[in-house]
Amino acid sequence: MTAPEDLTRETIVAFLKDIFERRGGEEYLGEPVTMAEHMLQGATLAEEAGLPEEVIVATLLHDIGHFTSEFGTFSMQDTEDKFHEEAGARVLERFFPAIVTDCVRHHVAAKRYLCATKPEYYARLSDASVHSLNLQGGPMSKDEVTAFELNPNLAEIVQVRYLDDAGKQDGKTTLGFAHFAPMVQRVVDRHLGR
Ligand code: FE
Repeated sequence: MTAPEDLTRETIVAFLKDIFERRGGEEYLGEPVTMAEHMLQGATLAEEAGLPEEVIVATLLHDIGHFTSEFGTFSMQDTEDKFHEEAGARVLERFFPAIVTDCVRHHVAAKRYLCATKPEYYARLSDASVHSLNLQGGPMSKDEVTAFELNPNLAEIVQVRYLDDAGKQDGKTTLGFAHFAPMVQRVVDRHLGR
């Protein structure tokens, strides 16, 4: 198993695949899907909707930071899944464009944003998601909304959030990580130039 600091563009996809395979069967607390099913469902829905590869890949990887013990430096400070979005974004940012890492980094904030700006959104959240919303600080304040809307990748961040919420269906079959692996590599190679 490669340490995160030793990862290269040639090994990052295998590293992510390995996490899906070894850790993906873990429970997604309060939801009827495993962590891998959750991320694969969202990515499958994104692909079915014909969304850009960066959005599909961001959805596929948005919760990768839940496996914080994979990313040594974060495991010490983290309690439960606190700041999983930041841990995930940090391990990805050497290889992926800002559009991907912004979606990962802000997917929790996006829920707080949508709860503040779209009343119908709050009504659709799962029970587990409402519970974590409260732990995450509840809906954004007006000032937080204004600041959040300055992000140039706002549209994609919101899109990934909707896909995150949609990927919690009991028994929906999805494409496997292997299906997405070449796409993940393409996004890396486009970003790093090849
Ligand atoms: Fe998620």
